[in-house]
Amino acid sequence: MASIFTRIINREIPAEIVYEDDQVIGFKDINPHAPVHILIVPKKEIPSINDVTSEDEAVLGRLLVAAQQIAKEQGIAESGYRLLVNTGHDAGQEVQHIHVHLLGGRRLGPMLSRG
Ligand code: 5GP
Repeated sequence: MASIFTRIINREIPAEIVYEDDQVIGFKDINPHAPVHILIVPKKEIPSINDVTSEDEAVLGRLLVAAQQIAKEQGIAESGYRLLVNTGHDAGQEVQHIHVHLLGGRRLGPMLSRG
């Protein structure tokens, strides 16, 4: 079954799309953790970083180039931002389709809680 993000890519469910090219899409997270919270997703449905192969190197690079562009467009390139990729259970990955979280627009605090 297609992931929820593939369904967004296919316009089967709505999202606030802020970026799209031939390999990657960016849209606002439905439950934002910061004033700017964008998910940057490869159009190829790769479940997690554990599943990437050398064939995916180009699209993985494209995710970061898109992140740079989106950060500029969202006005947070200078103030700063965080890119985050959850992988697997202990990281709390909810959606099994690789996505880079782009977070910014406020001081984000320490990288991790120590809990
Ligand atoms: P994860 O925990 O897998 O790294 O993050 C999944 C993210 O996807 C969460 O931040 C969650 O709010 C977001 N999300 C889940 N379902 C949807 C959806 O249908 N639309 C959008 N825009 N974001 C979603």
